[in-house]
Amino acid sequence: MSPALASMKRAAEQPMEYAAEWKARTGRKVVGLLPMHFPGELAHAAGCLPVVLQDDTEPVTVGQANVFNFYCGLNRSLIDQTMRGKFDGLDAIMFGDHCVQLLGTADVIRAERPSLPILFNQLCTTLDANWALRETLGTFEQLWKELEDLTGHRISAEATTESIRLFNRSRAQMRRLYEMRRRGEVTISGRDMQTIVKSSMVMDRGEHVALMDKLYSTMPRRAVSSSDVTVYLSGHMCHAPKPQIIDAIEESGARVVNDDLYVGWRFIHADMDESLPPIEALAHWYLDKNRKMPCPTRTMQGVDWEAYLLSEVERSQARGLIVLMVKFCEPHMYFYPEIKEAFDKAGIPNLLIETEHEEIPMEALKTRIETFVEIAKRRADIKAA
Ligand code: SF4
Repeated sequence: MSPALASMKRAAEQPMEYAAEWKARTGRKVVGLLPMHFPGELAHAAGCLPVVLQDDTEPVTVGQANVFNFYCGLNRSLIDQTMRGKFDGLDAIMFGDHCVQLLGTADVIRAERPSLPILFNQLCTTLDANWALRETLGTFEQLWKELEDLTGHRISAEATTESIRLFNRSRAQMRRLYEMRRRGEVTISGRDMQTIVKSSMVMDRGEHVALMDKLYSTMPRRAVSSSDVTVYLSGHMCHAPKPQIIDAIEESGARVVNDDLYVGWRFIHADMDESLPPIEALAHWYLDKNRKMPCPTRTMQGVDWEAYLLSEVERSQARGLIVLMVKFCEPHMYFYPEIKEAFDKAGIPNLLIETEHEEIPMEALKTRIETFVEIAKRRADIKAA
């Protein structure tokens, strides 16, 4: 493993330890960020380290009494980590309201850590409403002010544009790697791709950009085998799937060529317009996101997740779709039947894997994945004959 990737891996696996070290080094504040729609750019412009809060590998124990069992693994893990003191190094948490469960988690964190500032901002969910721009500008103005209050100094428009520029560059670096993987120019494992995106969520962006430059200069360019069964991964909003699931997919003879995972393309697909006043850039970035990649927690007329997935699977030349659904994720569950119907109708092999925070019976899962890969391979062979 290259030293650049090893540094990213350390930060991705121990984000709060990385944040504590960064805070000790810089003397600045660390702001936790909840998925999926709040931009880190503003917190960065305020001189803070924005850290997208992740689930961890610990079983939910001390938090169990404070959270419903039918909350998704991320919410249960966030509450458990709060109770274990994992987030005590944070100076604030920026919360959105993108699903009902996260609202409950915000309440528990407020109750358990009353002295921790919660910057709660409600972004509108109907992105094409005629009042959406006005509302969104107001939300980001409020957040801007709250961050100024938190840090005790003004956030300039120039600093925000600089942060937007840096984050755009960071996203472009990762998108370039995605494109190279899609075209088969590099062999990079799904696990490593997750590490790269996840570390960008928790690291100082300038440091991450420098590591990406190093990674590119040392990455071996290799042609991949055309006999691989190419697959597209979809879903897993808000946090990363367990790496062993990605490993099991790749070890079964499949090659992941693209995804719409949050710790993946969803996090890096949309840039902000550097030529706009920053508050407008933030608002348009948010309101235009669904046109580029539909999110089941937002609505926009004429935008369908299944239509997006069908065209992306085709563009990526994937032979099958694997849907990774977080157990008890209501927004995803509402949309899944339409995705399944569309892919069945199009004759594209698709597999649903429901994931949990707790251990998954991997042997049974491997058998299902191997069967799916074999079906996808045979279907592709018949089509090519
Ligand atoms: S994974 Fe689903 S249920 Fe969990 S926080 Fe995200 S949207 Fe909500």
